[in-house]
Amino acid sequence: MIQQALRFTRILSHVVVFILLTVFTQVGGIIYLLSRRTHPLIMRKVSQPVLQPLAKLGIFLLIYVVSTLAVIPLLAKPFGKVPLPLFRTSHLQPLRLATCLMNRHYVRPALKQAVLEIADKMGRQHPETTVNYLDGGFPFFNSYPMLPHLSHNDGKKLDLAFLYLDKTSGAPSDNAPSIIGYGVCEEPRPGELNTAARCREQGYKCYDALRQIVPQQHKQHYVFDSMRMKELMSTITAHAEIHKVYIEPHLRTRLGLDSDKIRFHGCGAVRHDDHIHIQL
Ligand SMILES: [Zn+2]
Repeated sequence: MIQQALRFTRILSHVVVFILLTVFTQVGGIIYLLSRRTHPLIMRKVSQPVLQPLAKLGIFLLIYVVSTLAVIPLLAKPFGKVPLPLFRTSHLQPLRLATCLMNRHYVRPALKQAVLEIADKMGRQHPETTVNYLDGGFPFFNSYPMLPHLSHNDGKKLDLAFLYLDKTSGAPSDNAPSIIGYGVCEEPRPGELNTAARCREQGYKCYDALRQIVPQQHKQHYVFDSMRMKELMSTITAHAEIHKVYIEPHLRTRLGLDSDKIRFHGCGAVRHDDHIHIQL
């Protein structure tokens, strides 16, 4: 009976790991299953029981990283997706490398070209500027959900971090206050439209859920850079390949943006005063 319970718990834990890896990285679950093929060999070669789980984890991580860096970019091509640069290229970089390690940096070639041109133009106007990208999409299939985003399922969408100044030095920062890129918001000032409050009143509990759970302690070290943000938004909306942009309404007003490409994303989405959403 106890043995059956242990066996059930072990199988359940494998299923949970598979599901989590598949949901958050798309390919991690498959790689997990593949890496399990090496377990009989590990059991034979690693005699100390305490080292066997470490060896299994090490092999999984090795296969995962090699696949992510060298194999998946090639396999994604027939699906019409290309990875964004892992390291700073033409003033564009991932805000967090974890985005790339989780295979969430795949977009259509046209969107990659557009965001590289946008970042490059910002770099020519302000050489100290780095445009940080957040979640794009997964490498394979369209209509595959990428949680927690509702719409990032076809390579046509990409999120960008806001531009900030370092509060101490006053210099442009190439970083952002959120550890995950989302959830640290440029809140509405008194007199500005408070969309988050309005959505909350209408019963949309998820609209500012990330704001409630993401640590806020780094916010005090950053100042929202209105000047460069206005230029970045103008550069984005002027690009011919970009057809839709989301930013919170109070920031659209504050920055004086009048492009009709800028839309309200709706209370069913999440708040956009922590990042910009662009799409083809
Ligand atoms: Zn988005």
